[in-house]
Amino acid sequence: MPERKIVFISFILSSCAAIFFILPTRRQLLGHSEMTSLQILDRNNVILREVLSSKDATSRYCTLDRMSPWLVEATIISEDKRFYLHKGIDPLAILRSLIQNLSAGRIVSGGSTITQQLARNLLNSPSRNFVYKILEAFVAINLELKLSKKEILELYFNYAPYGNQTYGIEAAAYLYLRKPACDLSLAEAALLAGIPQAPSFYNPYRYPERIKERQQEIFRALLDHGIIDSTQYKNVQNQPVNVVAKEKNFLAPHFCEHIISYLDKKSFHKISTLKTTLDSHLQKEIEQILKNNIDRLTDANVTNAAVVVLENHTMEVLAYVGSVDFFDPDIDGEVDGVRSLRQPGSALKPFTYALALENQCTAATLIPDMPSFENTYGGDYMPRNYDEKYHGMVRLRNALACSYNIPAVRVCGDYGPEMLLELCHDAGFKSLDKSAIYYGVGLTLGNGEVTLLELTRAYSVFAHYGRYLQEQFLLDADTADFKILRKPRKLIEPETAYIIMDILSDNNARSPAFGLYSPLNLPFFCAVKTGTSKDFKDNWCVGFTDKYLVGVWVGNFDGSPMHHVSGITGAGPIFRDIMLLLHRTALSIKYPKPDKLLTSIICAESGELASPYCDNTIVEIFTKGTEPTVICRHHTSAAPLLGFPCKDHAVYHDQHEPTGIVISFPDDGDIFKIDPILRSEYQVLTFQILTTYPLIDISWSVNDSIIGTAYEPYKITWQLSPGKHRILACGLTADGRTVMSPPVSILVLK
Ligand SMILES: [Zn+2]
Repeated sequence: MPERKIVFISFILSSCAAIFFILPTRRQLLGHSEMTSLQILDRNNVILREVLSSKDATSRYCTLDRMSPWLVEATIISEDKRFYLHKGIDPLAILRSLIQNLSAGRIVSGGSTITQQLARNLLNSPSRNFVYKILEAFVAINLELKLSKKEILELYFNYAPYGNQTYGIEAAAYLYLRKPACDLSLAEAALLAGIPQAPSFYNPYRYPERIKERQQEIFRALLDHGIIDSTQYKNVQNQPVNVVAKEKNFLAPHFCEHIISYLDKKSFHKISTLKTTLDSHLQKEIEQILKNNIDRLTDANVTNAAVVVLENHTMEVLAYVGSVDFFDPDIDGEVDGVRSLRQPGSALKPFTYALALENQCTAATLIPDMPSFENTYGGDYMPRNYDEKYHGMVRLRNALACSYNIPAVRVCGDYGPEMLLELCHDAGFKSLDKSAIYYGVGLTLGNGEVTLLELTRAYSVFAHYGRYLQEQFLLDADTADFKILRKPRKLIEPETAYIIMDILSDNNARSPAFGLYSPLNLPFFCAVKTGTSKDFKDNWCVGFTDKYLVGVWVGNFDGSPMHHVSGITGAGPIFRDIMLLLHRTALSIKYPKPDKLLTSIICAESGELASPYCDNTIVEIFTKGTEPTVICRHHTSAAPLLGFPCKDHAVYHDQHEPTGIVISFPDDGDIFKIDPILRSEYQVLTFQILTTYPLIDISWSVNDSIIGTAYEPYKITWQLSPGKHRILACGLTADGRTVMSPPVSILVLK
């Protein structure tokens, strides 16, 4: 015999001997470890989940004499017919499974005995790995040497996986049927006996038809082996088994999964009740809102959404919906969308502008929105706006509110992505773990991946006057180790936070991009920002009132793009529905202004102090010392309306004189498209005019029929309808004359 072969064989033999000695002793095997069952409660003591078992321990160990005899019969028939005959491994079963697998072309049967399966559960080994199979076989033989058949069977039943994180028959019987294992009927026993072979495949919640089929196979096998007679077989075949509805056992499933993994990490094993911050009633209402909205978006290839709701003051998690349906494998429902990494699109822009406001900029600072190449670390990069247009010089307020990309990239470039990344890290974005060089200025447009929870809680910086506060999801636990340690950290000045919040709640400022009647326009104070990632893969809407912070993500877990779904059509309406629900009894009120803020009347075009010649003035807020001191240089007595790249001004200047009244929105030749997804009530245009006459009223007409009369400021809304339309405004002056605007023609596409 060659020397190498001898070495190899002796290695194998000594390994086997070693395994025999390092394996647990009989005493260790039978001295099962028990855990305390854990009840996870919501804030009103409603049970969200009762955890009865874990992989290594159970709170309900069950001896063989306290199990239904049907269970033992059904399990042996289902898993290992020659259980009482073999010594741990069953060569016949292995041969049979080999033939079955070869003819099926895939692994359909493992040929493992009950003893081998027990070995696998004790080893926590992956089921289909060949090396582990060998190891399992050795352990199985060892178990047979150390234990009696009865003891092996009892251990098997107490360690077998029954799906939905449940181990052991007593826990499984309680979870699925709310009864002890001793009371299982034949039909119930056969149902449970089928699960351990493939707990995910036979999950009774996900695939009730599969487990039913398996149950029928077991009935048939019991008949074939003479364990039941044909009358029993006939009776049991159609006997219904009432599986406890998953909703009773799995309230807020993603949230509970998170809590369980958190406890594992913290090694809190002695806890029996855990009171969380969740409000299960609110959770259910929000789950329903998600389902309704996703049904609406089916045609747009949207399958999933996630929501997190935090109480503003305490940052307690009130609702946590990780997917539309935890139990739907077709949409990867188990994936937790609250904690999945996704590109946030524009939702990080407020942090970019917060940096600008902290560094000499004001809400009135003009930023160019014009074609530009940004020389980033990652190479030349030309940002584009969502509407593919350039808007000239825009005030910071409008740049943020309308979510223009070019100004955001410019501002980020001015201060450097390092500063933005540092602010993001301080605001809890742990997922942004690459370097600033890696992200470049694209960071402000959301090229880094973050989670919905990170994004939502980061907005606490704006909701809490510049102070960041970590979220909280536990209220109390029956253990001395339990304590909640959180301290708010000041990241930006209260004035900066207030200005960002003011901009995010400014419906007029965002209307050029989103329209006046977008879903973001709520009937109470609400600061909100949307985001859409590249190629329409992710869609966000995050915001807050004085009472709640809400974050919504919409998309697909498989990363497939949605069909042109923007924040306004996707996450926006869900956000709106949730905010309306949350504020049905008490409306939100705007925050008090910080002391160091003052207001100035400024020229909307130049951002400088308004002069008597400025046509368009607004009230802007400034941190004391940053307010403008120069009077508008663009509108003076010498040159009333010259030299400023503003679209409205150009129209006004060119066309005002001949008619005295001109339609300033829409523009002649504008094309609009009816969004197939957005609800029709949001699909309106607001016609506007500019005039030099003091008018009593304006009659608006579309295609020569009057749609209504409007008074100062003469605006009127019109529902989009497909086709070509000719719009006219007819004004009545104080001295009784009528003045007519030049007509404006628009096209509305279906
Ligand atoms: Zn001006």
